[in-house]
Amino acid sequence: MAAANPMKLEGKVAIITGGARGIGEAAARLFSAQGAIVVIADVQDALGRSVAASLPRPATFVHCDVRDEAQVATAVAHAVEAHGRLDVLFSNAGVIGPLLSGFLDMDLTALDDVLAVNVRGAAAAIKHAGREMARAGRGGSIVCTASVAAIQGGMAPAGYTAAKHGLLGLAKAAAAELGEAGVRVNCVSPFGVATRLSCAEGLLGPEELEKFTSEAAYLKGAVLNVRDVAEAALFLASDDSAFITGHNLVVDGGVTQINPATSKFTEIVAN
Ligand code: NAD
Repeated sequence: MAAANPMKLEGKVAIITGGARGIGEAAARLFSAQGAIVVIADVQDALGRSVAASLPRPATFVHCDVRDEAQVATAVAHAVEAHGRLDVLFSNAGVIGPLLSGFLDMDLTALDDVLAVNVRGAAAAIKHAGREMARAGRGGSIVCTASVAAIQGGMAPAGYTAAKHGLLGLAKAAAAELGEAGVRVNCVSPFGVATRLSCAEGLLGPEELEKFTSEAAYLKGAVLNVRDVAEAALFLASDDSAFITGHNLVVDGGVTQINPATSKFTEIVAN
């Protein structure tokens, strides 16, 4: 008889890029609590090691700058050598880039970096994790952190918006190809959630950001936090989503799915 509450990632090995803090750290804690052996791959060595050491299940840290394909390949090889297999990639590392300059003042070198982390880095991670999953022949699940800025303009700086749109395309293309090997590829797309990325210096503080997100969302009575995003990633990482691939799961209280101009449709037509 199956256990009453079976763990969703029991026996699975998961790499989390950008797992040292924010959404990635929340996912590391949740995946570990759900039975996964987690490999945190990040550029913040001390933080990443301390998060790995604090997880309830065995976990390791590997230094990995996703802009460097060789480091990504090493992270995948580390997961397999240290833990015997690779089942899940949560490709989550990301940067937002310059926040306060408009399109007409765009720093193209900064744009290159935003694309290098958010798109090229994800491409390298999907490539090497996907290769290993296909080689092992057990299938697998790849989840990428996109954003509401992957769907609409006006949500974030132009470079970040372009990068996240690109990431969504990358994930769909990968889903089309890797399905043959039983590997699923999906995205999770949060609205504003308080982390170091979204509450960078000079921007809204955590409480103000939460207020902004809550007021903009159609769903009332809930405050978006990193755990909500981690839960969506867990769903896509686990067998609960066994037939879902090429999907973008928005975690946004309805902001990208409801048209503000017509959301009061019944009131408008009644008057
Ligand atoms: P965060 O800054 O707290 O975490 C990002 C993590 O990525 C950090 O641990 C950082 O060290 C790591 N990282 C950055 N560059 C890296 C690189 N080159 N190689 C490896 N690791 C690198 O921010 P977060 O909000 O938790 O961001 C996680 C993801 O969520 C990002 O992809 C971000 O674009 C996305 N996202 C965030 C929000 C939000 O409102 N916070 C909304 C939508 C999407």
